[in-house]
This record gives sequence, structure tokens and C-alpha cells, in this order.
Amino acid sequence: MSAAEPWYAEGLRFECTACGKCCRNHGDGFSYVYANRAERQAAARHLGVSLSRFEEEWCRRDRGWFVFRDKGNACVFLDGKGQCSIYAHRPKQCRTFPFWPELLVDEETWEKDVASFCPGAGEGDLYDLTTIRARMKASR
Ligand code: SF4
Ligand code: SF4
Repeated sequence: MSAAEPWYAEGLRFECTACGKCCRNHGDGFSYVYANRAERQAAARHLGVSLSRFEEEWCRRDRGWFVFRDKGNACVFLDGKGQCSIYAHRPKQCRTFPFWPELLVDEETWEKDVASFCPGAGEGDLYDLTTIRARMKASR
């Protein structure tokens, strides 16, 4: 690995087990699921409600951005079985986890903020560098 290559240049193994742990607050105060207008509209359509009702009932504002509300220590859309109730319409933030730039900044961060709770990290399919970079870009 050259100095210019990231620590994950050889790829990372990942396979989601759908355990729902990434939909919960892990005690670090982080529970922000951001949803842009198109994502809010898709979720609202899925629930059969208007955009304004969706935003009022299921969202809150964080510095002007819409984020999903919490229910207890989890995202409001995590159901009683630990599954996402809007799975097919979940925001890109959820679709691209754990390949977020801030989580891949170094191996220590990956271990602390992903591998420490996500049972899919280090398991299953090998995601190569190109795929990881594409996911990172898509997460924004
Ligand atoms: S914590 Fe990891 S394995 Fe569990 S649902 Fe989230 S991404 Fe999938
Ligand atoms: S929208 Fe679904 S996948 Fe995303 S955090 Fe909420 S429950 Fe999890």
C-alpha cells in the first residue's frame, strides 16, 4: 500500500445481518438520520400521508435540516422486531452505512464507530476500493 492509498485500499469485508443496531443511539449522543426532500416525500408516500404531515409527525429540525425523530433510543422507524419499517424508502444515509467518509477516516475510527457494534463489519463479501469510494460518494 503506497502512502497515498487509504488504510482500506485492499478492501473491507461487510455483510449486513439486518440486526438494526445502527438504527440505535449508542450512548454517544449521535442519532441523526438526515432526510432530504425527495427522501421525505418517498417515505411519506409509503406511509400514505402528506409531506407536511410526515415532516410534522416523524421529523424534527436540526440546524435547518430535517432529521427523523427518535423513539426511545432508536430511530422512529425501527419497529418492534428491530426492522426498518420504511426499508425500501430509507434515506441514502442508511443505504450507504457504514461506508461514510467520517467513519473511514482511519482504522481506529472504523473500529470504534462501526466494528465495535456492527456484526456485519469484517464479515461476508469483500468490498473493493472502487466500490467503497462509490458508496462514500453516494452517502453525501
Ligand atoms: S449494525 Fe451493521 S449488521 Fe446491523 S443492521 Fe446495521 S449495518 Fe447491518
Ligand atoms: S430509517 Fe430505517 S434504516 Fe434508517 S435509521 Fe431509521 S430504522 Fe434504521
